[in-house]
Amino acid sequence: MARAWILKARPTGLPGNECFELADLPATALADGEVRVRNSWLSVDPYMRGRMNDVKSYVPPFALGEPMTGGAVGEVVESCADGLKPGDKVTHMLGWRDEAVGRAQEFTKLPSLGLPDQMFLGLLGITGLTAYFGLFDVAEAKAGDTVFVSAAAGAVGSAVVQFARLKGMTVIGSAGGPEKCALVRDLGADAVIDYKSGTPLLKQLMAAAPNGISVYFDNVGGDHLDAALAVANDHARFAMCGMIDSYNSGEPLMLRYAMRIVGFKLRLQGFIISEYLHRMSEFYAEVGPWAAAGKLHNLETVRDGLETMPDTFRALFSGGNTGKMLVRL
Ligand code: NDP
Repeated sequence: MARAWILKARPTGLPGNECFELADLPATALADGEVRVRNSWLSVDPYMRGRMNDVKSYVPPFALGEPMTGGAVGEVVESCADGLKPGDKVTHMLGWRDEAVGRAQEFTKLPSLGLPDQMFLGLLGITGLTAYFGLFDVAEAKAGDTVFVSAAAGAVGSAVVQFARLKGMTVIGSAGGPEKCALVRDLGADAVIDYKSGTPLLKQLMAAAPNGISVYFDNVGGDHLDAALAVANDHARFAMCGMIDSYNSGEPLMLRYAMRIVGFKLRLQGFIISEYLHRMSEFYAEVGPWAAAGKLHNLETVRDGLETMPDTFRALFSGGNTGKMLVRL
């Protein structure tokens, strides 16, 4: 019997177990044009928290009582569609479940590159795309820039650190705790900031960037964004990727250094990666050879079993992952 996590109640704050239910899915025969996929990897992402709220956003909220969705990789086990046959590995958005049934167009075949399947949910998937286009397109980062990136030991952040180093930028990464900071340095960062060390973040950033920063890649918001504003140079560019610090609190963001946006002519630009999917080939043309040449470290945190999904999801908000957070089925 196939199973899926459904959203039972809309959370306030960090979603507790009462918000989720692991439900049996009714057995379904395939219609013409449909495939059945046995999922093997599920993506666990901070943006899913926003979909648990009943608010208008760039993506509709999860419906109460319905299976949740998210990135997944699996293998076709039954097909009534041309172009996909049993044994094909695919990526798709019917995650939070062990079996996915849908129209063939909802599934994309994985390229046969001899790389681990789950990399197409991480460094070679949405994570990598977000880092790549956020850094190079939104922030227009180039050699010589000083880039500050928050959540630098996470999935997107660790990719930003590596891409920026490969392009000759100076990189400052922030992360929570000495182990994560050591990892960020190993990835090539020139300086690291442990925002949990007790030393004020701004003080650490001023020491790490005595000449200021020209690019900020924001994954966190809150104090990180404020500190970046405080040390930004004239015409610095901010890629506003995410603000995980506020996803559970919903508190209004207070920025002490917002006035510097005017005086220093800063450019803060939000982006949603779905608007870049048509440029996937540009990403693969540059990042594919880096991966093939062994120039990229593929960081992952893997938990096992569909049952672990809610707990794995919650762990994103307390730093329970380095690199891409995944559930293996
Ligand atoms: P991560 O792998 O970075 O996981 C989240 C990490 O954030 C945690 O490991 C933790 O690391 C850090 N974190 C959690 N809470 C806080 C906090 N209050 N203050 C500081 N750090 C915190 O997730 P992703 O790489 O998947 O996502 C990173 C960001 O990018 C998110 O904001 C996400 O929403 C956004 N995103 C945006 C996309 C877009 O299209 N705009 C697409 C994909 C992601 P630590 O231990 O260091 O605290």
